[in-house]
Amino acid sequence: MEGLVIRNLTKVYYDPYMGQHVVAVEDVSLTIGPGEFVAILGPSGCGKTTLLNMVAGFIPPTRGEILLNGRRITGPGPDRGVVFQSFALFPWKTVLDNVAFGLKMRGLPRAERERIAREYIALVGLEGFEHRYPHELSGGMQQRVGVARVLANDPELMLMDEPFASVDAQTRMSLQEELARIWELRHPTILFVTHDVEEAVFLANRVVILTHRPGRVRTILEVPLPRPRRWRDLLEDSTYKALVAHVFDLLRSPQEPARPVEKPAPIPHPPSRTGEPQRSWWRRFLGSRLGRALLVVMLGAGTWQGWLEYQARTKMPGFLERYRSPRGTVDLLVELPFPPERFHILTLQRFGRVSGTREHAVELRSVPLPRVREIARLYWVRGLLPLSEAPQIPP
Ligand code: ADP
Ligand code: MG
Repeated sequence: MEGLVIRNLTKVYYDPYMGQHVVAVEDVSLTIGPGEFVAILGPSGCGKTTLLNMVAGFIPPTRGEILLNGRRITGPGPDRGVVFQSFALFPWKTVLDNVAFGLKMRGLPRAERERIAREYIALVGLEGFEHRYPHELSGGMQQRVGVARVLANDPELMLMDEPFASVDAQTRMSLQEELARIWELRHPTILFVTHDVEEAVFLANRVVILTHRPGRVRTILEVPLPRPRRWRDLLEDSTYKALVAHVFDLLRSPQEPARPVEKPAPIPHPPSRTGEPQRSWWRRFLGSRLGRALLVVMLGAGTWQGWLEYQARTKMPGFLERYRSPRGTVDLLVELPFPPERFHILTLQRFGRVSGTREHAVELRSVPLPRVREIARLYWVRGLLPLSEAPQIPP
């Protein structure tokens, strides 16, 4: 089958911020014959760019397939040329080199590729600007370079994503006229995406109207306007006016309520490149034995820390501050639930000087105040007293 064949194309995104699946394009089927000029028309956010990106091979479909001249599209390729909304030119290359870039990649000799590039530069009306750099050109001129660059590669299919949306109204009209003229001259196959009703009707032979998100084909309209098409003639043309009004009505008339977000049961996640269901990294991690073990350890450690902190608070008298020495230390009586052993003394020596032991306590001197909390957190410490408040033991 010649041309572009889109069959039951669906794209479901996973939106990590909302934690939801978004159906951007739903069950779109469409055929574009060789040499046809088709416009895809729909409101912003209805999935036009998504559809075009799948045809360009930039993103894989969730379901369905796309064939170009009988070959299944699985990634980007030189058989398709894309004109983006932003001009996407190489800023360090001249107009000539930008247009000749694809030909250079294909290995054409310099003289040959410059001849072809000059031809297309002239076709888009930029003769004399061959040696300018993109920043020296207006937005409209840059977009002409973008069109020339794609045309010079002679693609089987030209994809255009709202290419004239970011230039002023007058420039846009002249760019539209030029694109119409180029199509009338060369008949490239064009899939042109836009939200602009008049642009779609002016340019295309057929207008495919999409619904609000998820984008589905709502209606396909033939545009029976004669060519060459010029704004000056069309603006007064009754067929043109009636068509535009009809499309506006279609876009405004109620449709089935949009389903902005849905959780489609059969596709838990968009498939990965290998076809395996794709899960987010933390789900994969928690699904593994190591991940679960780590989670248990972390929860345990957290609980333990919390418990020690709680204990420490109950062990420390609030008035301990008052007993600090000019050097910022305190002398403590560390109470234990049992007679102190060598282990307890060795541990406590890390915090201060052990000056003696009692039946169930250790005398610890010159402890810096900030470290008292650490002592209180030792699980075998039962309580802390300022040493001067502790009952004296007879010598
Ligand atoms: P259009 O080009 O018609 O304005 P898009 O194809 O850019 O629409 O987007 C269609 C819908 O899909 C929008 O709701 C958008 O928020 C959503 N979308 C687009 N790209 C992504 C993405 N990478 N991840 C999640 N959602 C996306
Ligand atoms: Mg878009």
